[in-house]
Amino acid sequence: MEKIQNYINGDLVPPMSGEYFNNISPSTGEVYSLIPDSDANDIDLAVSSAKDAFKIWSKLSKNERYDHIMHLADVIDEHFDDLVKAESKDNGKPEWLARAVDIPRASENFRFFATASLHFDSEIHEMDGKAINYTLRQPIGVAGCISPWNLPIYLLTWKIAPALAAGNTVVAKPSEITPMTAFHFSQICQKADFPNGVINIVHGFGNKAGDALSRHPDVPIISFTGGTITGEKIAAVAAPMFKKLSLELGGKNPNIVFEDADFDNAIKMAVKAAFSNQGQICLCGSRLFVQDSIYSDFKSAFVKETKSLKVGDPKDNTSNLGAIVSEEHMNKILSCIDHAKKEGGEILIGGKRLVLDGELKNGYYIEPTIIDGLSVDSQTNQEEIFGPVVSMIPFKTEEEVIDLANSTKFGLSASLFSRDISRAHRVAAAIDSGVVWVNTWMLRDLRIPFGGMKSSGVGREGGFKSLQFFTESKNVCIKI
Ligand code: NDP
Repeated sequence: MEKIQNYINGDLVPPMSGEYFNNISPSTGEVYSLIPDSDANDIDLAVSSAKDAFKIWSKLSKNERYDHIMHLADVIDEHFDDLVKAESKDNGKPEWLARAVDIPRASENFRFFATASLHFDSEIHEMDGKAINYTLRQPIGVAGCISPWNLPIYLLTWKIAPALAAGNTVVAKPSEITPMTAFHFSQICQKADFPNGVINIVHGFGNKAGDALSRHPDVPIISFTGGTITGEKIAAVAAPMFKKLSLELGGKNPNIVFEDADFDNAIKMAVKAAFSNQGQICLCGSRLFVQDSIYSDFKSAFVKETKSLKVGDPKDNTSNLGAIVSEEHMNKILSCIDHAKKEGGEILIGGKRLVLDGELKNGYYIEPTIIDGLSVDSQTNQEEIFGPVVSMIPFKTEEEVIDLANSTKFGLSASLFSRDISRAHRVAAAIDSGVVWVNTWMLRDLRIPFGGMKSSGVGREGGFKSLQFFTESKNVCIKI
């Protein structure tokens, strides 16, 4: 059986302990490869190789770094089809989705940040002829990049690319649940002759390898995307060590439909926001607020559209949804649905595990599920479920829905649908979330500040914000 290897100092190496654990394909439930059970010793080795490489990488010119990174992006593209298949098999998402979103984004992240680094500038503060201050933006050192399983290579490269472009070296810890494309990426780095030690990837459990990375004294900066509870743990470790920290965490995002919205567009987007990637995107619209005058019609149309979705083989291009990422996560989602019933929720459609035929019979599939009738402060409407589950809630007025939308501890993203441009501006400004979409969902521009408020995170990434995060600013004052 294939053994995934760590990537340290340009070499593919086994974990020092020699221990591995199973990697399961969620579409079939079969064990198909083995993952290194890395620990603090592997992290130590990776950090020391990244520290050595920093001495050279940070001194290269921006153009030299640009050339290396752009070449890496080209080699990623040469392995496009393999990456699509690997991501789908490892995560359960449909191949068409990996082809349309995840894999193109991997090389795009590198091209985007390599190019951005050439345009990145800093400030000058002139003191009325007495002195000039200028700000240097310098690379920091070894960046720890910890990423989740829902968009495995997409989010891994979203961190590695700006860290490198800004002149840092990296030790990355992908999710143990979806390590395969990170392993392919290691092999791609070798094929691209990417300088040794600049990128290091260590696989293993979060509470072992991930924890060792976040508490390593030679890792002064950490970019983390994942759940809010893990974010709390990492912050508790990093804060007393004064590490620079960026946390992109969970969401319970409101999707608000006003009575004057373009009805068909709002339906189409509500389906996309609820069920894309099996509902496992931090930006998914899991609370659907619909104005009471159109609630009944909207509900019928939303259920009808959801009924037409096909849950099936991720290899089949006609499957709208594939498998849930793991058995454990599937069971968590099913228990949330049970809890919603206990809280008095009505399941309008879905609500059950789906058992498919043949080799897919042990895969982890859940029907897209719509729940109605729960109050906004129910657990179902407060806690992140992170699956193909959406809860519908009626509202009467603009003021009311703003309060309802802001009633959770999260504040990652929101969507609102209305033809009234003034209302769209008012509501967008009043919603407590880092990103608001009007009449659309998940339309991403990589330049925008991206991140969450409240328990959805700390800091912003994207465009120059990422390059600011991955550099330290130093002011130099020159007396005239
Ligand atoms: P987790 O928080 O469980 O894990 C994220 C990463 O952290 C994984 O690599 C995990 O490793 C690692 N990890 C776990 N424990 C520790 C620890 N103590 N120290 C250091 N690292 C650790 O998140 P999931 O992978 O379950 O991802 C789903 C979550 O991510 C959802 O809450 C979702 O909302 C959020 N998310 C947020 C996004 C955003 O941009 N705001 C985007 C995408 C997802 P391992 O898996 O090996 O345990």
